[in-house]
Amino acid sequence: MQGLMMDMPLLVSGILQHAARHYGDTEIVSRRVEGDLHRYTYADCERRSRQLADALSRDGVSIGDRVATLAWNGYRHMELYYAVGGMGAVIHTINPRLHPEQIAWIVNHAGDVHLAFDLTFLPIVEAIAAHCPNVKSWIAMADEDRQPASARVVNLVNYETLLARGSTDYRWPEIDERSAAGLCYTSGTTGNPKGAMYTHRSTVLHAYAAALPDAMGASSRDCILPVVPMFHVNAWGLPYTCPLVGAKIVFPGAQLDGKSLYELFESEGVTYSAGVPTVWLGLLQHVRQAGVKFSSFKRTVIGGSACPPAMIRAFRDEFGVEVIHAWGMTEMSPLGTLCRLQNRHLRQSEAAQQKILEKQGHVIFGVDMKIVDDEYRELPWDGKTFGNLLVRGPWVIREYFRGEGGDPLKYDADGRGWFPTGDVATIDADGYMQITDRSKDVIKSGGEWISTIDLENLAIGHPAVANAAVIGVPHPKWDERPLLVIVKKPGAEVTRDELIAFYEGKVARWWMPDDVQFVESIPLGATGKILKTKLREQFHDYRLPGA
Ligand code: ADP
Repeated sequence: MQGLMMDMPLLVSGILQHAARHYGDTEIVSRRVEGDLHRYTYADCERRSRQLADALSRDGVSIGDRVATLAWNGYRHMELYYAVGGMGAVIHTINPRLHPEQIAWIVNHAGDVHLAFDLTFLPIVEAIAAHCPNVKSWIAMADEDRQPASARVVNLVNYETLLARGSTDYRWPEIDERSAAGLCYTSGTTGNPKGAMYTHRSTVLHAYAAALPDAMGASSRDCILPVVPMFHVNAWGLPYTCPLVGAKIVFPGAQLDGKSLYELFESEGVTYSAGVPTVWLGLLQHVRQAGVKFSSFKRTVIGGSACPPAMIRAFRDEFGVEVIHAWGMTEMSPLGTLCRLQNRHLRQSEAAQQKILEKQGHVIFGVDMKIVDDEYRELPWDGKTFGNLLVRGPWVIREYFRGEGGDPLKYDADGRGWFPTGDVATIDADGYMQITDRSKDVIKSGGEWISTIDLENLAIGHPAVANAAVIGVPHPKWDERPLLVIVKKPGAEVTRDELIAFYEGKVARWWMPDDVQFVESIPLGATGKILKTKLREQFHDYRLPGA
C-alpha cells in the first residue's frame, strides 16, 4: 500500500527560495577579487540567480548541460550554483589549482558548454580556451567596467551583462529530484580525475544532514565563513546548508592568509567556519604572533586530511574554539563522519574526551559504513582492528560520470553495493571511526601496518616543527620503513636524534621513524593536502642509513 503524502521533489532551488522567503534580509558578504567587500541578502541572491537562470536558458543552456566555474568563494559563484542547478543544468566546479592541461582535460571530459571565471583565473582561461572547442562562452565574473579584454579568448562575455538579459519573472522549474545538479572531479592524485555527479535529492538530503546539531550544527544564529573552497566538494555543502538554516554567509574570496581571514572573522562577527588543516596553521600563526583573540568565533569544522591533535588543543585551550573533526570525500558529497561527544562521554576525563575528539567521528544518519579485510570479510568494531573502509548512502556515488573506471562498488551477500573509500580505518564499539591512513600511504613493515597519520600527528606536536609528513621507504628486511620529513618553524632548532627520541614511549618501538630529512617545504596538492606521491618521488633515490 502506498502512503498518501505529496510528492514534492527535493530541489536545490527550493533551498534558496526558502531562504529568500524566510531569511530574506540575512546577509551574504563577499570579499571580491577587486579587494572590496560586497554585501547583499538572500532575497537579492535568489532574484539574481533566477535572472541568471533565465539569461542562460535564453542562451540555449538546457536540462543536463554542464556549466563550469573557476572561481573563489563569492556571491556570484553562489548565484551560479543556484541558477545553473535550479534550471536543471549541472554546475561543474573546477579546482583552479590544477595544472591548466588537466583543467582543459576535465572541461572536455565534462563537456562543459560555458565556463564562468573570476578575474584571477584569466591566465588559465587564456591557456585552455583554444583546447576546449565545446565551450561556447567564457564568462568573466566581474562588474562591466572591469571586463577584461583578451586576444586569446573568443567569446569572452561579461557576467553582469549576461545576467541583465534575464528576467526577474523567471520561475524555477519543477524537475525530477534525481536529475543531476552538480559535478565535481576528484583531484586525481593517481590517474585521471573522475567525476562525482550529485543529484538534487542527494544535495538537499546532504544539506539537511549537515545542519544537524551533532553534525555541523548550523543555525540561523550563526555567521558562517567557509574557508574550504566552493571548488573543493562544494565547500563541503555549506552553500546549501547555510541558506537551508538561514545562516549569514561570509565568503573570503581569494584572500585566505591568516591576517585577512582574522580581519573578516572580527569585522563580520563570524561564529563558525570550515577548512582543511593547512589553512588553520596560517590563521593560528597569525593570531599567536599578533597576540589577538577571537571575539565571536566559536566552532570550526576541520577535515579533508587528518586534523593534528595539537591543533584541536590549540584552538580550544588558547582561543576557546571548538574543533569538529570531520571526514568525507568527493564521492560522498562529502560528509561521512563528524566527531562530537555524546552523553556517555561527558563524565569522562578531559584527556579521554580529547582522545575521542581526535577521531574522525560518528556517521550521520544517511551514511552506513563498515571495515573489511582484503577478502571483504567484515571486521570487528573494537577500536583496534583496522581494515578497508566501505560506505553506502543516498549521497554516496553509485558510479563515476561517464562510467569512468567501471563499476566501483563492492557487493555484499545481500547484493547491496558499497563504495570502497580507499581509506584504512578502525571503528570503536561506540561507532567512532578513526582513519589510520589512505590505503596507498600506509607503511607495510614486516607484514604489519604503520599509520603515517599517527606519526605525523605526533611530530606536529613538537614545538620546533611547522609541518611534517611520513612516507614509507624501501628496506631490505622489513620491505618498508617510515621516513619522517620535517619543515622546521622559522628560527627553531631540532636535530634528527631529538625528533626520533620524541617518539619514545608514544608509539611502539617498531613504529619509530628510521630517519629524518629536513626540507624547506612539503608539496601540497590542489586541495591543500600533503602530496605523498610527489614526496615519494622526491625521495625516490633516498636510502635509509645502513639499508
Ligand atoms: P582527493 O582524494 O581527490 O583529494 P577528497 O577531497 O575527496 O579528494 O579526499 C578524500 C580523502 O581525504 C579521504 O578518502 C581521506 O583519505 C582524506 N580525508 C578526508 N578527511 C579526512 C580526515 N579528517 N582525516 C584523515 N583523512 C581525511
